[in-house]
Amino acid sequence: LVVPDKPIIPFIMGDGIGTDVTPAMQRILDAAVEKAYNGARKIVWVEVYAGERARDKTGEWLPDETLKAFEYFYVGIKGPLTTPVGGGIRSLNVAIRQRLDLYANVRPVYYIPGLPSPVKHPEKMNMVLFREATEDVYAGIEWQAGTPEAVKFLTFLRDEMGVNLDNIEATGVGVKPISEFKTKRLVRQAIRYALQRNRSSVTLVHKGNIMKFTEGAFRDWGYELAREEFGDQTITEDELWEKYNGERPAGKVVMKDRIADNMLQQLLTRTDEYDVLALPNLNGDYLSDAAAAQVGGLGIAHGANIGDRVAVFEAVHGTAPKYAGQNKVNPTALTLSGVMMLEHMGWDEAAQLVRKGIAAAIQDKVVTYDLARQMEGATKVGTAEFADAVIE
Ligand code: NAD
Repeated sequence: LVVPDKPIIPFIMGDGIGTDVTPAMQRILDAAVEKAYNGARKIVWVEVYAGERARDKTGEWLPDETLKAFEYFYVGIKGPLTTPVGGGIRSLNVAIRQRLDLYANVRPVYYIPGLPSPVKHPEKMNMVLFREATEDVYAGIEWQAGTPEAVKFLTFLRDEMGVNLDNIEATGVGVKPISEFKTKRLVRQAIRYALQRNRSSVTLVHKGNIMKFTEGAFRDWGYELAREEFGDQTITEDELWEKYNGERPAGKVVMKDRIADNMLQQLLTRTDEYDVLALPNLNGDYLSDAAAAQVGGLGIAHGANIGDRVAVFEAVHGTAPKYAGQNKVNPTALTLSGVMMLEHMGWDEAAQLVRKGIAAAIQDKVVTYDLARQMEGATKVGTAEFADAVIE
């Protein structure tokens, strides 16, 4: 990605608390960029519309221009969006991901000193999860029990494929597609990231012991890709012990795999043994939320949706309607998504400054309500005042 000094970055304000957190994030990023580059660089923010603001302005929930802007400028950032009820749209977020083919949902999970945490050693948590975002049971291939489609499909399975099925009329059915192409492009992104950021390992997380031809294939294709495309830069866990006595050679990433349920335990008990994780969609959903809850929860949890061409950055949380417009919620999640965007652009100096600012505000216990209520002696501030503290 070649980034000019004054790049145009499209942003979606977002519904609900979007109008609280998005301006706070922009102010913090602007201040950091200004300071890091003495005014030589500057983000030119351009608002594009989606969600309720788009509906009010254009009558559409997700105008084509919005998607075109992300395609044209390669990066963008978005606040949370309300999912419209009815009207045939499952979710605007899913629609954006599908249209732009943002197949990797990337979620860093690490501890900022001072954050409240339910675990004993939160400081050991430092992982980046790459969740496949386009297939698996979330592909939306499912039929309600009793519909002609469900009955036809199940009857075919029973009569033509010899599958043992009862009560066909009262059985809902879904399909779990996991493909070689989509697995490999996800794992490729995870390995590249690990190599670029000098991360120690990439763990393939799967339920291949039960679902051999989907989750098991995910594991096998992941290892195959590592061998085929990164043969010199990756080693397996066995090689690490047999050839290198457990000492990872510089510049090499260790490929491992873990069964998903075991992984969830290890995430909590052997936290420091894991680094980058690559996961199919459903495992990724569960694990990323569970991991984020260990280190600050929704006010902190941040991420990005990354494809081969376009990347869109967003917080994990939704629109939290009951807090909308009240200057109460935590802008850290969206701001850390903004930090990921700065790093994606290669503006690491500015990204570092934002991280420092957030760490300092949390260390000083100047925090929003969600953290203040869990931190003894904290000063509870509003969204805008928290942004001021970070900038300061
Ligand atoms: P939510 O994340 O909006 O809110 C759940 C609760 O988490 C809030 O009531 C609040 O207590 C807390 N919370 C969330 N963000 C916070 C922050 N920044 N600071 C402090 N506390 C915070 O989840 P929900 O209530 O299930 O969903 C509300 C709406 O958001 C729905 O319409 C849903 O579809 C949508 N949603 C959108 C996205 C997205 O745009 N990526 C993600 C999730 C949900």
